[in-house]
Amino acid sequence: MELLGRSREELRALCAERGEPRYRGDQLYRALYAERIFDLALVTNLPVAFREKLAKETTVTLPTVRQRYLSTDGSVRYLLGLGESQEFTAQNTEGEEKRKTKKAASVEAVFMPSEARQTICISTQAGCAVDCQFCMTAQLGLIRNLTPGEILAQVLLPLEEHKETLTPQTNVVLMGQGEPLLNYENVMAAMRILLDQAGIGLAPKHVTLSTSGIVPGIERLAKETVRPKLAISLNASNDEQRDVLMPINKKYPLGKLLNACKNFPRSSREYVTFEYVLLGGVNDTAEDARRVARLMVDLGRVKVNLIPWNPGSLPYKEPSEESIERFHKILLEKGIPAFTRYSRGRDVMAACGQLSLMETTSSPLSVIS
Ligand code: SF4
Repeated sequence: MELLGRSREELRALCAERGEPRYRGDQLYRALYAERIFDLALVTNLPVAFREKLAKETTVTLPTVRQRYLSTDGSVRYLLGLGESQEFTAQNTEGEEKRKTKKAASVEAVFMPSEARQTICISTQAGCAVDCQFCMTAQLGLIRNLTPGEILAQVLLPLEEHKETLTPQTNVVLMGQGEPLLNYENVMAAMRILLDQAGIGLAPKHVTLSTSGIVPGIERLAKETVRPKLAISLNASNDEQRDVLMPINKKYPLGKLLNACKNFPRSSREYVTFEYVLLGGVNDTAEDARRVARLMVDLGRVKVNLIPWNPGSLPYKEPSEESIERFHKILLEKGIPAFTRYSRGRDVMAACGQLSLMETTSSPLSVIS
């Protein structure tokens, strides 16, 4: 039985089933998530006999680090090997649940340190079914959903590896491989532990879930009492353009998506973020910028992050500096808070839209093990 990813209540029940007081479950929960102790023999506040019993009957499994790619900007892209085959439940883009066999899989997580904070970008599925045309992960198709433990391990592992140099603030973004809202139950089980102050203990304002626009998932997320911030991967200024770039738009067109965003609850200082990947000559014209500004009207507190396209093997090109500046300026003139974000880790295929299990880099010096 795997322990990583289990809730506090599940760990309490597991201890009680083995004749131990339920508070032993709290001790185990704290050890796994707050103290990042993954060897049960080292959880010294548990009785020795119980530790030995747990070690025989349970496992704590971290992903295998197949490779670490170090960017010149200090970011590290982890290529992680996950698990053995087992049964699991998956949702397709229609939201239907199906029993499937869990396959061994690889995913990627990216650790990005800076002076003020460290940011960890994590995957929620191996591959992705959503088929955004500008994203290399889409080329993989959906391999499988990740379990809560596999999602959390992508945070725990880099934090433990960099524990000597961590700053007090950790941000987590669910922007790696996969569509988080198509793995809703597992993602939220992981979020409850990530955002629990007795668990991993991150603040909700430091965790962002990014979706391609799965409207039923956004509406469900809106009803959660503990939830991360919401970001929408927008990338087009009208339905016609978005239908092509993000075919999911045919199912959840802009009108429905923006209405769900308008109704998404947020605190007085919270925004819904719209991410807009600028594809040179495709969606980066002045008219696109004016249309995006019009889409933002009446949505409440929003901001737009402009992300210049990161080159990969797909047939798009980077936007010119001039078009980036023009787009940004038009949004600001229309009163829309806008920021241009240059992705980190581009040289090791760790940037937005580049995660596709690429195993080579341009420089062997950028591979660390
Ligand atoms: Fe999937 Fe996100 Fe890539 Fe779209 S951008 S294909 S939702 S991983």
